[in-house]
Amino acid sequence: MRAVGQNDKKQAGRGCLALGRGAAALACCAVLAGCAGPDASRHPSSQAGPGAPRPASHHAGPDASRRDSGQGGPAQGLTPQARQAAEHARLVAAARRWRLAQVPLTPPPPPERKPEITARAGFEVKHQEDWDLPPVFTTIPTEQKIVFLTIDDGSEKDPEFLRMMQDLKIPYTAFLSNYLVKDDYGYFRTMQSYGHTLNNHTLHHPYLPGLSYEQQKTEICDMQDIMEKQFGRRPTVFRPPYGNYNQDTLRAARSCGIRYAPIWNEEVYVDHWEYREDDQKLHRGDIVLTHFRGRSDWNGTMVDDMRRFLDKVTREGYAVARLEDYL
Ligand SMILES: [Zn+2]
Repeated sequence: MRAVGQNDKKQAGRGCLALGRGAAALACCAVLAGCAGPDASRHPSSQAGPGAPRPASHHAGPDASRRDSGQGGPAQGLTPQARQAAEHARLVAAARRWRLAQVPLTPPPPPERKPEITARAGFEVKHQEDWDLPPVFTTIPTEQKIVFLTIDDGSEKDPEFLRMMQDLKIPYTAFLSNYLVKDDYGYFRTMQSYGHTLNNHTLHHPYLPGLSYEQQKTEICDMQDIMEKQFGRRPTVFRPPYGNYNQDTLRAARSCGIRYAPIWNEEVYVDHWEYREDDQKLHRGDIVLTHFRGRSDWNGTMVDDMRRFLDKVTREGYAVARLEDYL
């Protein structure tokens, strides 16, 4: 039912076909066929390449990102169509710079009505509905060809990753565990300033079902307090470490303001994918997990990991949407 067919291929090329001609079409050619489009060479950062040293640190703040993304630059004063073409050309140049096989697809606008999120069948706990416990789910119900990117833990704090995602305009949601992020909350504040949501992944990343209710409450609710203090808001979204939980987990989470407990349907590593389902495929609305990991954890950087993620989802005709828009 979800096999990749001709329609998917058409959709994958939509961004280029829609614009059709002119500079944007040339720039599409630059990525898809390897020829050098004029827009790519005009982009101020195109000589640098992702690995080149950058003067700005990851604490440079949103102004730095605005420079990177070219906002307020040559697109000012253009018609909406010309601005769209210029933005597409910018994305094409960015995809080329980060060595993606294709330009990532643009997600549809957020839904006017949010879908009803319920616990995935088989993932409920006793009294799930009666006590209105946060649902555990792996997929958002949607007809759109979108997936959601979630990134966990927080040990690797790679400024190139921040730049890449900002450059390519890819939304994601971070689940943070305090013991891994407390040495550099600033990195995640920068991420937050770019519009990404920071969520709760406990204080110490324990196997929660092995803890008492009170211990679980400490792990989850004390992390809520830390996130409020460090990032200015208490999350409503929580992910249990390893995807393991019991009724106490969801009761404890609910007691301190958690409304959703998404886990994942696929996990992407720097060198392979793993799937929850036997069909080994992406589905509409799937939540994809990866981790803040770098060369000390696996054979590559976060940028390499994201390249693997983006190349597959784009090739199969999926756009990356923002999870919070659907919750
Ligand atoms: Zn984790």
